[in-house]
Amino acid sequence: MFFMIGITDREKELAYSGRMIACQGCGRLAGMQVFMTYTVLLLFFIPCFKWNRRYYVRTSCCGSVFELSYEKGEMIRMGDPVDISEYDLNTVFRGRPVKRCSHCGYETDEDFDFCPKCGQPLG
Ligand SMILES: [Zn+2]
Ligand SMILES: [Zn+2]
Repeated sequence: MFFMIGITDREKELAYSGRMIACQGCGRLAGMQVFMTYTVLLLFFIPCFKWNRRYYVRTSCCGSVFELSYEKGEMIRMGDPVDISEYDLNTVFRGRPVKRCSHCGYETDEDFDFCPKCGQPLG
């Protein structure tokens, strides 16, 4: 008997519609993208067993990634209304804060002291 068995890591985005929180990476109010990673056993290319589920949040402002508490992640996966708070998040990857020129509105994630567009100091 010959079985085709494979193990692979997958990533799935989850719908999250809770309130926004201040990003711990850059301090701005952040839109959050929630996603789940899991390991799956494939039998004849059909996913038949999943384990090792973990939940993560990526913020849209600076691309920081946080690990989300398992309980909240499960609730989001089940479609329960849930608000993520900063206590549910553990920083995995801190994105680069985006600097915005208050003079002309130019945005950059480079570490400029002065706006490359209009020459005003960046805050
Ligand atoms: Zn941010
Ligand atoms: Zn400027």
